[in-house]
Amino acid sequence: MKRTRLLSRLWEFQNKYGYIPNNAISEIAQKLRVSKIEIEGVISFYHFFHRKPTGKYIIYLNNSIISEFNGFADIKAAFEKETGCTFNSYDNNPLFSLFETSCIGLSDQEPAALINFYPFTHLTPEKVKSIIEKLRNYEAIESIANNPTCKIQYTPTEEKTIFFRNYTIGNSLKKIKPNNQNKLLANIEKAKLEGRGGAFFSTAAKWNACKASKNTKKYIICNADEGEPGTFKDKALLNNYPGLVIEGMIIAAFITGSKNGFIYLRAEYKYLLKKLENTINEFTEKGFLGKNILGIDAFNFKIKIELGAGAYVCGAETALIESLEGFRGEPRIRKYFPTENGYLGHSTVVNNVETFAMASRIIELGPNFINTIGTKQSKGTKIISIAGDVAKPGIYEIEWGTSIQQLLHLSQATAPHYIQISGPSGECINNSEFHRKICEEDLICGGSIMVFNKFRSIIQILENFTKFFKIESCGACTPCRAGNQILHEKILKIKRGICTSKDLEEIKQWGKIMQYSSRCGLGQYAANTLMMAVDKFNDYFNLKVETCTDNCNVEFDMQNAVYDYDLIINTQANNLQ
Ligand code: SF4
Repeated sequence: MKRTRLLSRLWEFQNKYGYIPNNAISEIAQKLRVSKIEIEGVISFYHFFHRKPTGKYIIYLNNSIISEFNGFADIKAAFEKETGCTFNSYDNNPLFSLFETSCIGLSDQEPAALINFYPFTHLTPEKVKSIIEKLRNYEAIESIANNPTCKIQYTPTEEKTIFFRNYTIGNSLKKIKPNNQNKLLANIEKAKLEGRGGAFFSTAAKWNACKASKNTKKYIICNADEGEPGTFKDKALLNNYPGLVIEGMIIAAFITGSKNGFIYLRAEYKYLLKKLENTINEFTEKGFLGKNILGIDAFNFKIKIELGAGAYVCGAETALIESLEGFRGEPRIRKYFPTENGYLGHSTVVNNVETFAMASRIIELGPNFINTIGTKQSKGTKIISIAGDVAKPGIYEIEWGTSIQQLLHLSQATAPHYIQISGPSGECINNSEFHRKICEEDLICGGSIMVFNKFRSIIQILENFTKFFKIESCGACTPCRAGNQILHEKILKIKRGICTSKDLEEIKQWGKIMQYSSRCGLGQYAANTLMMAVDKFNDYFNLKVETCTDNCNVEFDMQNAVYDYDLIINTQANNLQ
């Protein structure tokens, strides 16, 4: 057995037994010739692998902030009441096990849960009661699950719509001709395509680096591990236009000379697996995948789908590669780009779902057409998922340069006050910034906008975000591991009314330490929102501090965690010098 098969082998045990038993670990360790502890280490990294028996139905209830504001607590209580189980514990119930989980990509339909990875949306206590009754009566789960389709609420005029226009299989692939790799790459460059996962790195530069590599093997990886809370736009593409994404991968393979591709699909989107497999089969039957594609000699490319197992950090490209190789999804130290040393040491392109879909449209429609849309630096359109206090949550394909105000109007936001751009690792804006435009020149956005009205507690939003990062930090480096813990505790202090202005200062000091010295984007960006919120909503925070004055001498038991903040901050600051 190859190490790269580890995750899929673990999934086989997880699916068969509901957990991974001791003998499975012994068997895998023996086959891989590694210690059992090594396998335990991998299992413990992923939220969806269990070491203790679970019930027939594993229920994962999303605890994102959108879910919290839509009744998470009531739904949690309803599941516990109806099943007799307790969340996040293994209580030996043969039928049910309950767990909380981070965002499952259904923010437009919250509260939502996955039951054996089937989606159940718009939950109410009554609906929970009915679901549990049906499961107890052995009704087929497929027949009672909800359709996960998200509504495409807005596209620009017909001429300006790029993604959600008519799609005919093979339309972009027609442009592939023997030896025209340079021309295709030039078109990608001309349309200024940048990575749509949030990093906005030049796609042409990335593909060119892989093309130029002398490495004997090359890989194309589609990052379908869309884990940023509030984001579900890649799901919309995979669900509605899977062929567009696959065509983008085929074009990348042709340009770079790659023979193998992977789609790393987050387990939360397991319900899309069949559709993706069917699309790959259709492409193979039509001669768009396999050997001598389009009749071009030695143009061979195949795509395999690998399932993640619940780890937000695997959205980071080197963590994703580690996971594909069968390891804990810990991001690598940035010594090489994946195009230099990626999957199994080979030259590898990792791009996000939307990037491949856009590449496909660029080749189909031509860069001149794409360049007529958008702004000077951001060409074409962008897909945004909008959720929160809006009457029309869902998917919006917008021209780059659209303002927040326009989006609030389109989505029918009610009393917007605090807007979160690009998920918790992005930035927050207040109502003095609603004129800002989504584009590289102004406000860059990876794909999600969460709208919160003036009746929502900012502390509750930030408590949810800091808790999320504390849980999702892989723990490999100290600034992120300790920093996220401390930031969460700072928010709890503010919430409990025992903070001082020193706490607000320390939030910023810790944020800077994390930005400068964390190994990967998770740690580098985790404090951004909190630091910005302290500045942008300073009246709110100052009021919190003022009303804390009477209590500020109260001893704060930080859930038994004892930190000497001054010592840690000074040590880290010295290390940075
Ligand atoms: Fe892990 Fe956080 Fe360090 Fe990234 S920054 S490697 S998530 S501990």
